[in-house]
Amino acid sequence: MAKVQEQIESFSQGLIRRNPGEHEFHQAVNEVAENIIPFLQDRPHYQEAQILERLTEPDRIVIFRVSWEDDEGNVRTNRGYRVQHSNCIGPYKGGIRFHPSVSLSILKFLAFEQTFKNSLTGLPMGGAKGGSDFNPKGRSNREIMRFCQAFMAQLWHHIGPYTDVPAGDIGVGEREVGFMFGQYKRLTNQFVGALTGKALHFGGSLIRAEATGYGTVYMLEDMLAHRGDKIAGKTAIVSGSGNVAQYAAEKLIQLGAKVLTLSDSSGFIYDPDGITQEKLDYVKHLKGVERGRISEYAEKYSCEFHADKRPWGVEAALALPCATQNEISADDARLLIENGCIGVSEGANMPTEKQGCDFFVESKIAYAPSKAANAGGVAVSGLEMTQNSMRLSWTRDELDRRLRDIMRDIHQKCVQYGTEGDHVNYVKGANIAGFIKVADAMISTGIL
Ligand code: NDP
Repeated sequence: MAKVQEQIESFSQGLIRRNPGEHEFHQAVNEVAENIIPFLQDRPHYQEAQILERLTEPDRIVIFRVSWEDDEGNVRTNRGYRVQHSNCIGPYKGGIRFHPSVSLSILKFLAFEQTFKNSLTGLPMGGAKGGSDFNPKGRSNREIMRFCQAFMAQLWHHIGPYTDVPAGDIGVGEREVGFMFGQYKRLTNQFVGALTGKALHFGGSLIRAEATGYGTVYMLEDMLAHRGDKIAGKTAIVSGSGNVAQYAAEKLIQLGAKVLTLSDSSGFIYDPDGITQEKLDYVKHLKGVERGRISEYAEKYSCEFHADKRPWGVEAALALPCATQNEISADDARLLIENGCIGVSEGANMPTEKQGCDFFVESKIAYAPSKAANAGGVAVSGLEMTQNSMRLSWTRDELDRRLRDIMRDIHQKCVQYGTEGDHVNYVKGANIAGFIKVADAMISTGIL
């Protein structure tokens, strides 16, 4: 055991030395290494092929300037990125994020996680992530369009339906994907599925908007069922109020939970009566069309708004972080457990700090890490790619059924590789199951 600990420590030090200052990347890789290095002990073929070492070096990173003009005629310059992490099991695939906090470290962590997540879906997709430090808040529709066009004027060289297929993420929804797709089509003179998350009228897929949030709740449903429990009748706290949070809340409501909170970067609302479908429809309009603040919900429905706070102190049985990385600290994790939380399903990517994750695992609650819990989004993106290639569209029911099956299968893989006595360690299960498929493909395709 001491030898394994030494290996983990030395691996971690090497990683930090090669990638100085990239804290989020270190965090994501170390979490995987802690499960994979012990797993490798009696599997010399993976060790000899240096799989883990190779997987911590992205295939390629493209960094480019994005210059554009704002509504006042000022020239603006942002930085654009695409991290193509691994195309071992399929074309690179992963979202694009527009947020001022975007950095190489954040995109490298997201791309690394994406490779494992995409592997878990069982679909042929490699891992990537991209984005820009552009802040879309307060920008007009025309400014968003000009920025997206300028961004794609650089990115198009590096993507394509058999090369790399980006999608949305924080700050990039159907509107932004539409502008980027338009520019890609203009530059290449090809109408192909080079992006997913498109609107329905030009090649998008039903259920894509719902997929990440619904999938996160399906995972929670399966974890609870595995323990003989269910979602109905339980209280839930959700963070965020964007794409993932909206549809996680919607599915929780449909399955009979009482959703108490939503949030954005300025604070959270606490609605003790529960967020109904009608109230949620208001949130969808507020965030998706008016681009307003979640505090307006509190004014409209006369409930509490807690400025600059996160919802983790509210007592509830279920918690679904659906906003951003590291939004649950170790103290928050402890508080959640003390307050009786029994299920956590991560809609956002790496929303829990490392110590908090360890605490959830040690507490033996039903805890699904993001790479398993939010894989439904990219899974339906994969189904959008299939529909685009086949030039047909499946029905809503067909897609929801496929999404449900994929999430059930991911849960099953976690049980297969993560069962420890009478408990399932979903972090370990997801890491090992995701790793095996990629590792085997790397061995089959040679030293690249
Ligand atoms: P959206 O842009 O639609 O919504 C993001 C939400 O999180 C908003 O409410 C936003 O608040 C809030 N938020 C963003 N950054 C911060 C921050 N630094 N602090 C506090 N709140 C913040 O993004 P998505 O819903 O698409 O993405 C949410 C999470 O889910 C991300 O971690 C993303 O990587 C992950 N994810 C998304 C998938 C998808 O299909 N969209 C797939 C898999 C994972 P505000 O409005 O104030 O900015």
